[in-house]
Amino acid sequence: MINLTIKEALEKLKNRSISATELTRAYLERIEKYGSALNCYITTTPERALKDAAESDERYKNGNSLPLDGMPIAMKDLFATRGIRTTAASRMLENFVPHYESTVSQNLINAGTVLLGKANLDEFAMGTFSKTSFFGAPVNPWQIEKHLTAGGSSGGSTSSVAGGLAIAATGTDTGGSIRFPSAMTGLVGMKPTYGLCSRWGCIAFASSLDTPGPIARTVDDAALMLSAMAGHDDKDSTSSPEAHFDSDGNVQPILGDGKKLKVGIIKEFNSVKISDDMKNLFEKRIADLKSMGAEIVEVSIPNILDALAAYYIIAPAEASSNLARYDGMRYGLRVEGDGPYDTYKKTRAAGFGEEVQRRMLIGTAVLSSESYEVYFMQAARVRRMISDSFKTAFEQCDLIVCPASAGTAMPLDSDLTPLEYYALDLFTVAMNLAGVPAVSVPCGLAQNGLPLGMQVVGPRFADMRVLQLAKHIETSANIDNRPTTIMGE
Ligand code: GLN
Repeated sequence: MINLTIKEALEKLKNRSISATELTRAYLERIEKYGSALNCYITTTPERALKDAAESDERYKNGNSLPLDGMPIAMKDLFATRGIRTTAASRMLENFVPHYESTVSQNLINAGTVLLGKANLDEFAMGTFSKTSFFGAPVNPWQIEKHLTAGGSSGGSTSSVAGGLAIAATGTDTGGSIRFPSAMTGLVGMKPTYGLCSRWGCIAFASSLDTPGPIARTVDDAALMLSAMAGHDDKDSTSSPEAHFDSDGNVQPILGDGKKLKVGIIKEFNSVKISDDMKNLFEKRIADLKSMGAEIVEVSIPNILDALAAYYIIAPAEASSNLARYDGMRYGLRVEGDGPYDTYKKTRAAGFGEEVQRRMLIGTAVLSSESYEVYFMQAARVRRMISDSFKTAFEQCDLIVCPASAGTAMPLDSDLTPLEYYALDLFTVAMNLAGVPAVSVPCGLAQNGLPLGMQVVGPRFADMRVLQLAKHIETSANIDNRPTTIMGE
């Protein structure tokens, strides 16, 4: 049963050949069996799941089922869930139980989903391998014996979906945290247009970049998840009034039948070193798109190679401000000290891990009066230029494609420096700076048998078109990402 996509499962639930309770039980068994090996959940919620499933079955019986009724999902543990521990994978929030529900998770409840648990991630979503989690790193279900990263920061989400421990999951993408882990696990992960999914109740990292989005096994499933997650929200001042996305799970072809489409390739990325596998598969998929009638054009985003530098100034700057609230005074961890200032210091020293502390220091430094103009303002200018260049590029083409990463998933015990980790975000951060939609879709398997992903990027609010092109790539790559095969059963 865990091999079913959302689309297939909904079909079977509608014609009542399976029940939501059966489906949920299949996933709970899977969690029981592989949950600790994959470490993809920080908290599991089996009782809540069975209760949700029973309610779904009731609705199917009464003929008033909801769009995603009975779909057992994992929620990245960055989304506040009422009455359920929400940790952001930090010691700071180890015992935090919110009394409110994030808009995205509420939207998914309203769509009838079943909550299996809260997925592991990098602490406060800062990282690329999900190794900065206070709860230890999730493991990639592909070639599990090799202990590879499931990517980060949404690595618990991708590990759970790829391993068949959830039918789909939520993620958040500030600089690549949905797309990179999806690429590492053979999944479809979408960073929608900034402002399409509400950030309300999603624990903030860098507010001008944070973007909730779906992680699923197919493009159609990602579209179904996004339909439920998206929508305007008065509680988020950056939620767009235009925020609307609607799909019945049948993403339509954008190529074929003489349809015209210009697909751009970013010139500046040609000079970036990528693995031979990535290069070959990317070229293969481009050739396929061409043969389906796409016209391939080269576009330029002149500052795109500066996106990393700009991102690693802007993101820590915003994070240092957002994370100032964890002071041991109101909620979360409190380590008693000698007076309030000492308590504050001791709490933050004990509550935040090394990477989060590093970002606080960078962020505070670049916002200091002597650095603000040379670092922060300069980064803001680069961001504006990148955003403008995307606009210009989209006057020359309809959509852009590029790799999602340079190579396949690396071992969790790889010993990289912070800068080497940051460099892995090269292909993903620019889209966050520009706020444009981007999806990572599997483009094939490398020689070592591991999946690789490529991105489709579009102008703001062209989210559907992005998925439409991704579907062609998915079809031509045709990789098998069924969980049973992944786990070698
Ligand atoms: N790897 C990037 C970082 O560490 C992206 C994280 C994210 O998108 N949340 O900042």
